Amino acid sequence: MNMASDHQAKLPSECGTCGKEDCQAKNRQPQESQEDFLDRQKLESRMCRIGRKIVVLSGKGGVGKSTVAVNLAAALADAGKRVGLLDVDIHGPSIPTMLGLEGTQITGPEGEMTPVDAGGIKVLSIGFFLENPDHAVVWRGPMKYGVIKQFLKDAAWGELDYLVIDSPPGTGDEPLSVCQLAKPDGAVIVTTPQKVAAVDVRKSITFCRLLEVPVLGVVENMSGFACPHCGQVTPILRSGGGRKISDDMGVPFLGSIPIDPAMAESGDSGRIFLRHFGESLTAKAMEGMIRAAIRMDDSRP
Ligand code: ADP
Repeated sequence: MNMASDHQAKLPSECGTCGKEDCQAKNRQPQESQEDFLDRQKLESRMCRIGRKIVVLSGKGGVGKSTVAVNLAAALADAGKRVGLLDVDIHGPSIPTMLGLEGTQITGPEGEMTPVDAGGIKVLSIGFFLENPDHAVVWRGPMKYGVIKQFLKDAAWGELDYLVIDSPPGTGDEPLSVCQLAKPDGAVIVTTPQKVAAVDVRKSITFCRLLEVPVLGVVENMSGFACPHCGQVTPILRSGGGRKISDDMGVPFLGSIPIDPAMAESGDSGRIFLRHFGESLTAKAMEGMIRAAIRMDDSRP
């Protein structure tokens, strides 16, 4: 069965997902093949059943982007929202480890992927498709675009209030594909206090502006050290970089999160920090940051 007839079997030629008169998925565009039209219609029909899509970005790797994405998804799920978490970090997916889902395989009927349930969060990651976690994925841009499109279009996300998307650092193929295909409602940008990280955050903000993705705000992670003995936060690196960028670039500052050994430990052991260390000062900082991001999102049309 070829792709076109496969899609045709699953979707009516007129998409009935929503009743919007001006929905772009209703009509085939000039110069669009029937196959491309049905493909786009399927993607839009999936996306229109998702209330808000929030992409988590960073300029550099290792700054805590996946950690923020996981805890954001968990906080929303714990608030009673229907939540999906999509990990499009094709070269270094860490979400399966952070959720204790290493070795998990994806199932689902032919042509559809069923996201994995992780404590009330529907999760999909490229990590679920790698036979061996040591294998390197060596793909060029169009391959990455195709896979991200499949994750959005062929996954049985169902009705969701939020889809949180963990994108790899930088402004390359993956975040570009996410922004073009999922059209996120907002971006949370994670940085660390140092100047070298700050320079790249500016690029992430510029990237969002170019792609018309509203910036919900900047988070400064690893800002000070939360002592596990006395509970106090000690500044060990110069902090305030996140706030300064936010002020300079005219975007909201969402808050600072200290370095906390419990945060690193929970990431490595597959336990969600907010669910296991919810009483800590670091958890309060993380929750404050998440509340600020959701408030920003709620204030948008
Ligand atoms: P990124 O997605 O930006 O590459 P990760 O979220 O994977 O970064 O975090 C990198 C490492 O740092 C992980 O081991 C994670 O558990 C740890 N980490 C993130 N934030 C903190 C923090 N505030 N305190 C301690 N460890 C952290």
